Amino acid sequence: MAERTLFHRIRDREIPAAIVFEDDEVLAFKDIHPKAPTHLLFIAKKDADFVPSIDDLTEATAQVPGLLIRKAQQFARAHGIDGYQLKFHVGKGGGQEVFYLHLHFLSEQALKE
Ligand code: AMP
Repeated sequence: MAERTLFHRIRDREIPAAIVFEDDEVLAFKDIHPKAPTHLLFIAKKDADFVPSIDDLTEATAQVPGLLIRKAQQFARAHGIDGYQLKFHVGKGGGQEVFYLHLHFLSEQALKE
C-alpha cells in the first residue's frame, strides 16, 4: 500500500482541518497557508481513487482530476463565486509538497461563512 500522507490523515479525521465541503467522493478544506482570500484544496476520498500526483495517473484513475474540477465548479456556483483559479502542482519541481492528488481552488472572492 502507498504511504499515508498528511491528506489521508485529514480525510480520516486524524488531524483537524477546516472542512468546507464533503460528499461520498470528495472532501474540500481550507489551505492552512492561503494564497488568496479563498484558498481551498479538493481531494478524492475513495482509496480506489487515490493517486499521488497527476504524473501518476493511469487509465484507472484518469477520471479523478475531472471529478475534483466538477466538484469545485459546483462548490463555486453554490457559493456565488464566479471567478477562480484551479491548479494542480505536479511533482517536486512543480511545487508539489503533499503527494495525495489535490486541486487548489483560489479566488479573490471571500467565502461567505
Ligand atoms: P502542494 O504544494 O500542491 O502539495 O500543496 C499542499 C498544500 O497543502 C499547501 O498549499 C499547504 O499550505 C497545504 N497544507 C499543508 N498542511 C496543511 C494542513 N494541515 N491543512 C490544510 N492545508 C495544509
